[in-house]
Amino acid sequence: MKPYKNKINKIRSFALSLIFIGFVIMYGAIFFKENAVLVIIFMTLGLLCIIGSTATYAWIGLLSTRAIVVACPSCQKHTKVLGRVDMCMYCNEPLTLDPNLIGKEFDQSYNNKTKSKTQEIDSK
Ligand SMILES: [Zn+2]
Repeated sequence: MKPYKNKINKIRSFALSLIFIGFVIMYGAIFFKENAVLVIIFMTLGLLCIIGSTATYAWIGLLSTRAIVVACPSCQKHTKVLGRVDMCMYCNEPLTLDPNLIGKEFDQSYNNKTKSKTQEIDSK
């Protein structure tokens, strides 16, 4: 089984790692202090990573407002579900908002837009 994670948590850890990468790249500029052009390139890349991370955090904030809060049936905690299928933030219990998917094997592809569209057409 693939290690699925809650989408909001996944994006959050991505944004966090982006900050670290940004700092590491900026720190790397120290080793090229003889070459002003390289320092500028490294500093810009590092800054871009940090800006990207900030943008990702803003994006999470936006997604969180659209996510649906549900009580996890397994650990009773409140978790946010994004899309048709998602994992519990705390215990990685697969959760779905689509009654058609209840009891089915968890599959990340249920979130695939084209696939869900064809399924909607089928049900009409
Ligand atoms: Zn849970």
